[in-house]
Amino acid sequence: MKYVLVSGGVISGIGKGVIASSTGLLLQTMGLKICRLPPWLVTFTKADIAHGECFVLDDGGEVDLDLGNYERYMNITLTREHNITTGKIYQHVINREASGLLGTRRKGEYLGKTVQVVPHITDAIQDWIQRVARIPIDDTGEEPEVCIIELGGTVGDIESAPFIEAMRQLRRRAGKGNFLQIHVSLIPVINGEQKTKPTQAAIREARSSGLAPDLIACRCSEALTTGTINKIAMFCQVEPEDVVQVVDVRLTYRVPLLLENQRLLSLLSSILQLDQVVISQQLS
Ligand code: ADP
Repeated sequence: MKYVLVSGGVISGIGKGVIASSTGLLLQTMGLKICRLPPWLVTFTKADIAHGECFVLDDGGEVDLDLGNYERYMNITLTREHNITTGKIYQHVINREASGLLGTRRKGEYLGKTVQVVPHITDAIQDWIQRVARIPIDDTGEEPEVCIIELGGTVGDIESAPFIEAMRQLRRRAGKGNFLQIHVSLIPVINGEQKTKPTQAAIREARSSGLAPDLIACRCSEALTTGTINKIAMFCQVEPEDVVQVVDVRLTYRVPLLLENQRLLSLLSSILQLDQVVISQQLS
């Protein structure tokens, strides 16, 4: 299984979801089957006023409307299992110790160990992702080959901390050539000047959490200048071609093309060795 993690810095609502879905759509053009996991939500029950309209999955799962967006963008069918929430993960860990209902027999799977965020919650997150990534998402009934994970919130948020640590560990579990991170950042234009400092700080923050972005996707109101791209590359320790720009568009359905015009597929292919996946798919 190959994993693509899409994380974000600087501000919320920066376009991680659109970039993750667009990346999935591009990977589908290579004939790959893609599983798409939503950002973790803290909620148990969805309130229309706070979270927008509820989207109902084919299996009856009531989820965030983002999942409807993924199903339409990528023509896939998700299940309630794909909707990982902080609450579900904690409940799962609690249930492994106690069965959850007052008076029922304890399971005691941790056998008196100190149950902690690391490693118990972080292991549960990784196990859950690795399990649901294999659930077929279309009529063929075949396992997906790539799993796109969107990290909720912005790196540095208290709520995201266990998930960030789990992603750091998942990179190691997945192994070299099987995990890639796209970090989405903002380049504000102040008095006509493209500012890179917020992006430099966002990448520093991601690195200090143990994350190592392979590609930096920059949201900007205008095309980035060569000087800006070189500056980001230099200060963020990536190659200029690893800096991908995502300018504001009127229709977000243009974003996949915008990314492909910057050879995103070729970047993903070389880091994730996708040619091998395609060849083994053709041989099987
Ligand atoms: P996040 O996942 O970071 O919260 P979303 O992908 O949900 O962000 O996008 C937040 C909002 O910004 C949505 O309304 C989306 O349509 C819009 N948006 C995302 N990318 C672009 C873009 N390149 N140009 C214009 N609007 C965009």
